[in-house]
Amino acid sequence: MYEKYVKILKDHTLKVTSPRLEILKYLDLHHTHPNVEEIYSNLKKTHPSLSRTTVYNSLEILKKHRIVQSLTISGSELRYDIQEGLHHHFICTRCGAIFDIAISCPNMDRTLQGGHHVEEVQGYFKGICKKCRTKEKGRNNNG
Ligand SMILES: [Zn+2]
Ligand SMILES: [Zn+2]
Repeated sequence: MYEKYVKILKDHTLKVTSPRLEILKYLDLHHTHPNVEEIYSNLKKTHPSLSRTTVYNSLEILKKHRIVQSLTISGSELRYDIQEGLHHHFICTRCGAIFDIAISCPNMDRTLQGGHHVEEVQGYFKGICKKCRTKEKGRNNNG
């Protein structure tokens, strides 16, 4: 179960530690772009000795190695995402849910004019998610 995450850490010559594995697993299973608090409180249930600082520091290391990415889509709050190539995000202004959007960027080239080298692209779309729209439609139909 953890082999996949052990491999990721080893590929980046990072020490394999239990918090790192747990965080990777959590992000891999929950594509909801959780913040530190959410990751911490969920992992704490099964790992009572885990500290918030450890979670934060582990995320920073994983980020530095581009294994995870952070988003500042909702205000100044950092949300985390396991790195799965370039993708954009859609944030629902009603419920705050963040979704991955598979979109290709036709104008994006790894080397832009002027010699800049692009390492990541983050596009944000804002609007009302499918779930909230369905809810609203239901409400309108009922009266
Ligand atoms: Zn929504
Ligand atoms: Zn994402």
